[in-house]
Amino acid sequence: MSKPLHEGGCRCGQVRFATSAGPFFTSYCHCRDCQRATGAPVVAFVGFHDDEVTWSSGKVSTYGEPPVKRLFCASCGAPIGYRDARLPRRTYFYTAAMNAPEDFPPSQHAFAGEQLSWLELTDDLPRHDATSEPRPTTNRTVT
Ligand SMILES: [Zn+2]
Ligand SMILES: [Zn+2]
Repeated sequence: MSKPLHEGGCRCGQVRFATSAGPFFTSYCHCRDCQRATGAPVVAFVGFHDDEVTWSSGKVSTYGEPPVKRLFCASCGAPIGYRDARLPRRTYFYTAAMNAPEDFPPSQHAFAGEQLSWLELTDDLPRHDATSEPRPTTNRTVT
């Protein structure tokens, strides 16, 4: 892999990753599952292709029911991101896990219908009622 372009990791530093390319995807997700998984009122994601991601230290752990697996650090518990088997060879990092989250503004809202009523976000980004990326099945899922 060429020189890292972007880097990120967990809060204790045991899980680190780097990317050799820019993201193909950015989005907010307002779904209840992301809220529960992170404890946050809204989550932002940044997506990269797996062949552009290297894990530079530590071992990322996963949990969840297929097809969705969420990634986290088993040492500090920090959420890292998720993968969806229906969207193969892609990893969606929580934007705040990036070293420079300011560089990845979300470009859309997923599950906008589940946005918390007291959360004020003033933007004109596209708002999707459900997922922002089509899946081969109709199962409800994240992002
Ligand atoms: Zn950690
Ligand atoms: Zn979600």
